[in-house]
Amino acid sequence: MSSLCLCLTAPTYDGVLNQLEQYRSYIDMAEMRLDLLNPSERLKVLDLPGLAGIPLILTIRLPDDGGLWGKYGESEKDRDILFMSLLESGAWTYIDLEHDRTMADVAAVADAGGTRIIRSMHDFDGTLLDLPVSDLAGMIRRMAEGGSIPKLAARCTGSRQLLALARTAIATESVGAKVILGMDEYGAPSRILADRFGSVWTYASVPGGPGEAPAAAPGQLDPKTLESLYRFSDINKSTPLYAVIGDPIAHSLSPIIHNGWLRGAGLKGTYLPIRADDIAALLETCDIWGLRGLSVTVPHKEKALALCDYSGYPARRIGAANTLLRAGDGWRARNTDAAGFLEPLPDAMGLGSVEELQGKKALILGAGGAARAAVYALIDAGMKLVILNRTIDKARRLAEETGQAWGPLSDEALPLLEGGIDLLVQTTSVGMHPNENADPAPWLNPRECSLVYDMIYEPVETVLLARARSAGVRTLNGSGMLEAQARLQFEMFTGIQAPE
Ligand code: NAP
Repeated sequence: MSSLCLCLTAPTYDGVLNQLEQYRSYIDMAEMRLDLLNPSERLKVLDLPGLAGIPLILTIRLPDDGGLWGKYGESEKDRDILFMSLLESGAWTYIDLEHDRTMADVAAVADAGGTRIIRSMHDFDGTLLDLPVSDLAGMIRRMAEGGSIPKLAARCTGSRQLLALARTAIATESVGAKVILGMDEYGAPSRILADRFGSVWTYASVPGGPGEAPAAAPGQLDPKTLESLYRFSDINKSTPLYAVIGDPIAHSLSPIIHNGWLRGAGLKGTYLPIRADDIAALLETCDIWGLRGLSVTVPHKEKALALCDYSGYPARRIGAANTLLRAGDGWRARNTDAAGFLEPLPDAMGLGSVEELQGKKALILGAGGAARAAVYALIDAGMKLVILNRTIDKARRLAEETGQAWGPLSDEALPLLEGGIDLLVQTTSVGMHPNENADPAPWLNPRECSLVYDMIYEPVETVLLARARSAGVRTLNGSGMLEAQARLQFEMFTGIQAPE
C-alpha cells in the first residue's frame, strides 16, 4: 500500500506549519520544499522533524526540476551547505537529490545521519516517455544503485505516455522502493493509483487558490480529495477499480456519483476520472491495472464500441458504447444512455408509464451519440420523430436509418413541426458550460411542445429551458438521465443496486 506525502509549499514557516496541521489527519509523510520558503526563514525548519512527528523528505529543487532555488541569487554551493547543516541532526527520513548530480559530500552526511537518499528525475517537456520502456527501466534501475529510492516524474502529454509509464512500472517491479508518476491531467491516474505503479508514496499538495501557494507539480491532487473521494489509503493490489474516460474529463460528476455509491453500499473500490486522447492505448493501460468497468464519454463512445470483443444489442443498434465491462481478456460494450434517457421522461410529461408515449410526436435537436440513444429509445416507445442537426447529413443518415423525418437545425425546419410537438429533446452541446448563453434553436417557440427535455445538466437550467419555463411549458434537464444511466452502470459494475 502506498503512503500519502504532502508537499509543504508555503513561502513562510507559519504557512508550512498551517499546511501540515490542515492535512495532518490525511497524510503519512511530508516533503519540505525548502526552495519555496523565504530565504530568511529557511533555518527555522530545523524544528520541523520534531514538530511534524511523521517521516519528512528534505528537498531543495533547482529551476530545471521545477524549483525556485537561485531565485534570490543562491548558488548550488549554498544549497550543499544548507543541506549539510540541516542533515547533521539526522532527523530527516529522506533527502531528494537529482539523479544527474552526484553531490558526494551531501550524500555522505545523509548516509552518516541515517537519511535515505531519493534520486529524482523530472521531465517537464513530455519527451522522456517516448523512449523505449527498456531504456526508462534501465534509468530507474541505475537510480536505485547504492540503496537510493528512484523517483521518476514525467509529463504525460497523452494516453500513450501514460501507457509507457504503466509499462515502465511493470518493467521495474524488481526495484523495491520507487516512485513513478505522471504529471499533468493525462498522468493524474498515476497519482491516485500509486499502488498499481509500485510507488511507495504519492505526492499531494494544498490546492492553490488566488494568493495561495501553487501545487508543487502539475496534476497533483490535495490530500483530502485523495482520501475522501478516492479512498487512497484503501487502494491495494486487489481493490476493484472503475473509471470514466473522455476528453475533456475534469468537469465529470461521475467520480462523485460512483464513489458515493461504492462507499454507501459498503463496497471496496475506487472510481477515477481518466483523460484519454487515444482510447486504444488507454484500454491497454486499463488491462495492465485490471480495471473492471469503464464509463465512456465524449468523444470515445463510437470507437469504444468498435474496440470491444463483445457488445450488447442496445450498444450495437445505437452505434455507441457508454459502458465497458471487463470480459475475460477483453471488454464487453453496453449502452445505458437510452434507458437512462427514458427513465425520468413519463413522469416529467405527466404520464403514468412509457407505454403512454405511443403515437406521440417528438422533435430531436442534434444527431450525435446522445441523440442516437434518445432516438432509439423513443422509437421503441412508439413515438414519431423529426430529427434536426447542424450537419444536415448526420440528421439525414440517422433519420433514414430509423425511418423518421429530418431537416436542418434552423427555422427552415418549421414546416416539419406543423400539427404540434409533444416533446422537444435537446441533445446538442449548445448551452452547456462554458457556453451557457447559447440557444440551439432561438427560432423555435417552446409553446409548440408539452415538455422541453434538455440533456445538459451543467448549467442546471439552459437558456432553452429558461425560455420554456417562462412560456409555461414543463421542463426537464439532464441530471435525471445522468443519474439513471449511472445507476444502471453501477449495477453492471458491481452486481448490486446503487443505494438511494
Ligand atoms: P456528440 O456526439 O459530440 O454530438 C454533439 C451534437 O451537438 C451534434 O449533434 C453536434 O452537431 C451538436 N453541436 C455541437 N456544437 C454545435 C453548435 N455550435 N451548433 C449546433 N449544433 C452543435 O456529443 P453527445 O455525446 O451526443 O453529447 C451531446 C450533449 O449531450 C452534451 O452536452 C452532453 O453533455 C449531453 N449528454 C448528457 C447525458 C446525460 O446523462 N445527461 C448523456 C450523454 C450526453 P454536428 O453534428 O453538426 O457537429
